[in-house]
This record gives sequence, structure tokens and C-alpha cells, in this order.
Amino acid sequence: MDDKSLKKAKNHLPWIGARFKEVRTITFLDGRQQEVVVFSSKSRVAQTTADRIIIVNELVLQNENLKDYVMVHESVHLKQFGQWFGKSWLGPATAIGLAALSYAFTLSGVVAFFVLVLVLLAWSWFLEFDASYQALKTLDMQTVQEARADRRALFQPCIFWRIVDAALHPPMCLTILIFRTLNRRT
Ligand SMILES: [Zn+2]
Repeated sequence: MDDKSLKKAKNHLPWIGARFKEVRTITFLDGRQQEVVVFSSKSRVAQTTADRIIIVNELVLQNENLKDYVMVHESVHLKQFGQWFGKSWLGPATAIGLAALSYAFTLSGVVAFFVLVLVLLAWSWFLEFDASYQALKTLDMQTVQEARADRRALFQPCIFWRIVDAALHPPMCLTILIFRTLNRRT
């Protein structure tokens, strides 16, 4: 990982309340190796940044199920087009939209604002669905279920992050339901 990328990743960490630990090389299930930035945090699990750097909580790497699930999920994000688009623009778009509406409140302005927010959210849901769906395809259902249980036990995000996560990710039970329906053995 070059210095510029590392610096960007380090600058990103305070925004999610995380602290830099180290750069580590991890091996994906398909044998590929990848440098990741390891951080410590009580609430955040992992992310792929706008610069396509995987940042991951040290607790994840200590838990085999969680590590496999998170790494497959993030490796999908690494390949996605416009991976960061919805997430990075949602905050600024909401702030600018609300400021514009409070300045000049019009019905068409309200509609345009909600359409924009919905488009950004839908894009994020699509990418997150894809990443979780691929993880279900790569791993077995039991590993994924255990990873989810371990994640709930290890991380207790505050109400702010719960709302952000719920807004940006489709519910996992929905992804599992779609996966089961599409992969039903006849
Ligand atoms: Zn994701």
C-alpha cells in the first residue's frame, strides 16, 4: 500500500470513530492476498473506502467466521463500480438539500429532494445486497449465520450508527430470503 493511500485511509478513520492499528496482508478465500488497514473500534466492523482500501476492525480478524464473511463481502465491494457513490453523496446531498429547502421551500423542491435521497439509498442497497449475496454464495449458510451472531455479540453500535447502517444496507433477512428463493433445489 502506497503512502498516499495509507494516509487517506488514516484520515478516514476518525470519521467513523476508529483508531489506526496497522497495515496487514490477509489472504482471501480464493487465495488472493490483499493489504488491509486494521483499526480498533467498538462499533464499526469494516468498510471499503472511496479509494478502494479495505479497512477492517481488529476484532473481525480474530474471529474466523466473521473474518471470512467480512472479507468476502468487502472483496465484492472492491470490484463494484461506483462503490462509494451512494454513501459518500448521501450526507452532503441531504445537508445541501435541507439547507436549500429551508431557504426556498417548494413542493417540487421537496419531491426532488426525496427522489435524490431515495436514488442514493437505492444504489447503496443494491451494492450491499450484491456483496452479501455473493458472500452467501461463497460461504455456506451456517457460516454466515454464525458470523452474524458473532458480530452482534462483539459490536454494539450506538443509535446513530444503527440508523446509518439500517439506511445503507438492506435487511440481511431479506437478502437471505431472496438467496433461498433463487437457489432453491428442486
Ligand atoms: Zn458492505
